[in-house]
Amino acid sequence: MVIVLKNNCDKNQLDRLTAWMREMNIEPHFTHGQNQTIMGLVGDTSKIDVDMLGALDIVESIKRVSEPYKQANRKFHPEDTVIELENGTKIGGGNLMVMAGPCSIESEEQLTEIAKSVKASGANVLRGGAFKPRTSPYAFQGMREDGLQLLVKVKEKIGIPVVTEIMDYEHLPLFENVDIIQVGARNMQNFELLKHLGRCDKPILLKRGLSNTLEELLMSAEYIMSEGNEKVILCERGIRTFETATRNTLDISAVPLLHQMTHLPVVIDPSHATGKASLVPSMALAAVVAGADGLIIEVHNNPQKALCDGAQSLTPEQFDDLAGRIEGAKQVAYR
Ligand code: PEP
Ligand code: MN
Repeated sequence: MVIVLKNNCDKNQLDRLTAWMREMNIEPHFTHGQNQTIMGLVGDTSKIDVDMLGALDIVESIKRVSEPYKQANRKFHPEDTVIELENGTKIGGGNLMVMAGPCSIESEEQLTEIAKSVKASGANVLRGGAFKPRTSPYAFQGMREDGLQLLVKVKEKIGIPVVTEIMDYEHLPLFENVDIIQVGARNMQNFELLKHLGRCDKPILLKRGLSNTLEELLMSAEYIMSEGNEKVILCERGIRTFETATRNTLDISAVPLLHQMTHLPVVIDPSHATGKASLVPSMALAAVVAGADGLIIEVHNNPQKALCDGAQSLTPEQFDDLAGRIEGAKQVAYR
């Protein structure tokens, strides 16, 4: 339920309303917008006497929110959420964040070289997987703790924030110096992991599951937010369809649709969505034009030799060419 409050409403009356809601085990969440203040109610609101509430002097209007996601809902928070990293980089509300780097961290030299080049091309964040969710247990599983240490070392050496995937909440202490924690597609509905991430205060890049609906994606965001962490970035990375010509099918319509459904930033991953480096630049630009708040792109200095996802990785030169076109796409972005 959403209560739109009257402008300049009486503070004592508002305190009484807040206390009344808490007595009913309902938690009010306030959004102070430019024109109005909204009180979003989370909990079992079925017993609330709407007529009594509507009769209060401070109440302008009341809306029932029928969707099961509440805190992630645009109705609760009409303005875009803007998430800021420690170095001031922002995502959301018209701030485009470009994340780029290898699928997997392979060595200090590899990561340093890629970090330098993507930063020079304008990337805001370096990506690099240390814990890798591989379909085969015999495939390279990532450099794990050693990889995370290298990532943080390169972050400090090059001066760029970093994003990397977590697979087990017991690893959370290892992520202390990571700027954005990624939840991969395969873990989108690992609810215990989501609850633990909800209790930390780092931005979470939540990828859509291989066969999950947008509503399910938002319910996973809700798991994180309901534990107190409101810094959730959603990522569309392609879904499973009957088409086999691409690795997955990129659902570009997820961008404008999610912007209607939620206030959270939306990122596109054209690398995992297509599985083909030749398709990545056009899909990345399409995402920006569709209004995406960010991109996450795999870049490798030697894609043929990459230990993971080489076929979908851009070379640093290809990434540089794409980065040069992003500003133009932003100019015609539809929002
Ligand atoms: C990745 O980002 O390297 C990754 C494994 O992505 P996804 O979870 O989208 O498959
Ligand atoms: Mn990958």
